[in-house]
This record gives sequence, structure tokens and C-alpha cells, in this order.
Amino acid sequence: MFLTITATGTPERPATDLGYLLHKHPDNAQTFSTSYGTAHVLYPEASAERCTAALLLEVDAVALVRRGKGKGRGGAPDAALAQYVNDRPYAASSLLAVALSAVFSSAMKGQCNARPELPARPLPLRVEVPALPARGGADLVRALFEPLGWTVTVEAVALDAEFPEWGDSRYVRLVLESERLTLSEALRHLYVLLPVLDDAKHYWVSSDEVDKLLRAGDGWLPDHPEQQLITSRYLSRRWSLTREAMERLELVRLAEADDSAVEEIDNAVAEETEADSEDAAEPEEKSVSLAVQRRDAILAALHASGAARVLDLGCGQGQLVQALLKDMRFTEIVGVDVSMRALTVASRRLKLDRMGERQAERVKLMQGSLAYTDNRLKGYDAAVLSEVIEHLDLPRLPALEYAVFGSARPKTVLVTTPNVEYNVRWETLQAGHSRHGDHRFEWTREEFRAWAERVAGRHGYGVEFTPVGPDDPEVGPPTQMATFTLTTKEEKAA
Ligand code: SAH
Repeated sequence: MFLTITATGTPERPATDLGYLLHKHPDNAQTFSTSYGTAHVLYPEASAERCTAALLLEVDAVALVRRGKGKGRGGAPDAALAQYVNDRPYAASSLLAVALSAVFSSAMKGQCNARPELPARPLPLRVEVPALPARGGADLVRALFEPLGWTVTVEAVALDAEFPEWGDSRYVRLVLESERLTLSEALRHLYVLLPVLDDAKHYWVSSDEVDKLLRAGDGWLPDHPEQQLITSRYLSRRWSLTREAMERLELVRLAEADDSAVEEIDNAVAEETEADSEDAAEPEEKSVSLAVQRRDAILAALHASGAARVLDLGCGQGQLVQALLKDMRFTEIVGVDVSMRALTVASRRLKLDRMGERQAERVKLMQGSLAYTDNRLKGYDAAVLSEVIEHLDLPRLPALEYAVFGSARPKTVLVTTPNVEYNVRWETLQAGHSRHGDHRFEWTREEFRAWAERVAGRHGYGVEFTPVGPDDPEVGPPTQMATFTLTTKEEKAA
């Protein structure tokens, strides 16, 4: 099994700098022994214009078997022959990834004592992997590498070139090209994504793999649209590890989000603009925006309820759906909105069309109006109505109440809405104005409480209230949240 890394250069920045970066001199062929075989590094070409390093791994199939890890695909794992005759020696897999990290560890870390300025510099790179097992096919290969800035060429490899009628194998020939990545980034992408595509690790995945994943994923994994799939496959689908990794990635993201303005907008309405609209902005919170605090409060309440199958009613542009997807506790997430426009934006945000199969199975977006009963909404653990009720005309609200609490009847319902009393605290909000042009009403804490208790009583729910955002001693919090819990017998029967 092998891969090649080619840099192109100029007289000022010769491609042979690759040798410094890899800590391997282009004139020498070097050999390293690893636990599963021998790795060779050699340079088929090395000029100022083009320099190619090849990593070739000779897998010792017998050593693999002795270590009990010779389970390549191509036969029942225990079949005597399949232990020795399998794809491991040829296919780029977790073995190659391990070899990469063993042989190019300094390059992966971006260290170069001889030329300290080099590692941070992006360089024109081309990576070729002639036989890559790709579970999920060419589409997944593209979905994994393209968001990272690679131009991807994937060609299916025929089962047997002599017999085209046999069709394609599950291997692809992969070529990656980029001008804007550093070598360290490139190697860390390969280190994580080759085994993800192979989806069969040759060793038992233990908890320090989470650290390895986060280290190798630094700077790119927290924002990768397929991070759920990557994390889960990298960790051999071990659920507890995957959850740990996803939680830690979320923390990284939150820390980064503090610096970005994207989340600072409260309650942007889909109809307005595709980008989060500026004029809809509630005045900014200093550190974490109210929208983020609201999402956190909702997630916490959902966790406390133990819900796994969740409806996001009036999901808008899908921010909450996205957050729910990142949390493995939620096995089914359905976003519903009356606005097709909002759903289109949501679907783009979630990259539904490029989502890995497993992710795609967890999420659905549906168009529907909450003012009508809808059988598709029955039987869920929880429903969220985040900043939705105030968008309905008051006379339509009873219809929504019946559709949600009377017909769909999830075990838990979370409703958030602005607390109008807090509006005096928004410096930029003129007296008497509501926070958003499309709000048909905004309630005081008392009004919200009265409504919620009436709805709960009528439909057999209990209700509790939680402030969201800074709870001002005089005017209360900016957002109020009610948690409804089904109390009637049907819940016990269910
Ligand atoms: N829940 C999101 C969006 C709130 S904006 C958030 O918290 O950010 C309100 C959303 O409710 C809009 O996307 C709007 O299209 C939707 N909506 C309004 N009336 C609706 C109705 N009758 N049925 C379904 N969705 C509705």
C-alpha cells in the first residue's frame, strides 16, 4: 500500500523544501520498521519544480495475524485463509495512517527546526492514493475532503481491468490537490480520513483515540460538516467515545464562537434574508449571544427529559436542528416549518444532500403548519417551539395549542418566547417596540405563565418555568421558557 505527496515549487521556493518538512532527505531512501511491517520513504522525483515523496508500507500479514488483527475485508474474519489473504497489504487503511504518523510525526505536528518558517506556509500539494477502500463511495470521499479545501478526483477502480463487466470494486483511486493547505494540515487530514473511509480499524480503539482525533483534527474538525460521521467512524462507532469527542468538539466550537459575530443575532426570521439578518438583531450580549444561551437551555432541558426523538417546530433556518444533530443522544430529529424558504436555508446549512447515510437517517425536514393537526407529528419524545408562538396571530394560537398539546402530544414540550418586560434593557430598542417586526405579540412573565398553565391544565401536562439569559431582579430574563411534561395515564401506558 502506498501514497505519494507531490509539491510543486519555484526557484525561490523550491519543491524540494518538502524534504525539510518531512525530515527526510530527497536523496535517500529510508526504511522504518513498524509493528505491522516495514515503511519505506523514497522520492521518485526531486527537483525545484516538482518533488514527490512516496510512502510505501509493506504489511507483514503474518505479524498482523499474530497480533490478532488481520481482519481485512474479503472473507469471514475467522476463516483461516482470510486472515492471511485479505486487502490489508494493498489498501490504504488505518495501517497506512499509523505509518504516516510514525514516519512523519514532526511534519504532522508542524515542526521543522532546520527551517522554522516552513511549516506554516501553504504549498501547492498533490496527494495520490492509488487504492483506497471507500465505504460510502465517491460521494463521501468528496464530502470529506472538499470542505477542507481540496480539489478531489475520485475514480472507481474496476474489480478486474480485464473484465469490465464485473463492475467496480469498493476501492477508489484518489487524487487530492490544493494550493492553500500546509503539509501539516494535509497529513492530519489523511491521518484521520483514510481510516474513516476504510471504516475498519486494525486495532482496538481505546479512549486515548479521542485525544488523537482531536489533536489531528485541530483547526478543521470542529467545523467540518461531516464531523459526526468522521468522529463516529474514527472511533469505530464506539458510542461513548463518540459522544465524548462530540462534546469536546462542541466546547472548542463554543470557544471559537465567542469571537465570531454569526451567532449574535437573535431570532432572525427566515423570510428576510438568507444570511442571518442584521435588522432583526436583538442588541448583543457581551459574551454569549442570547440565541446561544437559548439553545443551551433547550439542550439542557431536552437532556433532563431523556428525549431521543425530537421535533423542532418552527425550526426556521435549522440552527437548533444542527445542534441536536451533533449530540448523539438524539436519534431522530425532525424540523418543521411553514416556510419553504426557511427549510431550504436549513437544508443547505445542514448540507442534507451531502450528508453521510447514518447522519441522514437521523434528520428530516418537513413543511407543515402548526395551526393544523398533523399525524406525522405524533409519537415523539419531545417538541421544541423556540421563539415561534409570538409569530402567530393571537386568534390562531388555540389552533397551535390543539395541534401540539392535543394531537401530537409529545411527552415533553419546550416553549420559549421573549419576555416583553426585559425590552427596556435593550438599549437600542425604542420604547413600545417589539424585538422583531414579525412578532404579533410579546408577553410579560405573568401573561406567559397564565397562558402556559391554562394550556397545561387543559391537556394534561405539568409546567415549569426557566429564565434564559441574565435574570434581571426587576424585569426578569430576556427569554422565558416553559417546560411542559405530560402527566396523564397515556404517558404511563406508553
Ligand atoms: N425556532 C427558530 C426560528 C424562530 S422564527 C429559532 O428559535 O431561531 C419563527 C419560525 O416559525 C419561522 O421560521 C416561521 O416560518 C415559523 N412559523 C411561523 N408560523 C408558523 C406556523 N403556523 N407553522 C409552522 N411554522 C411557523
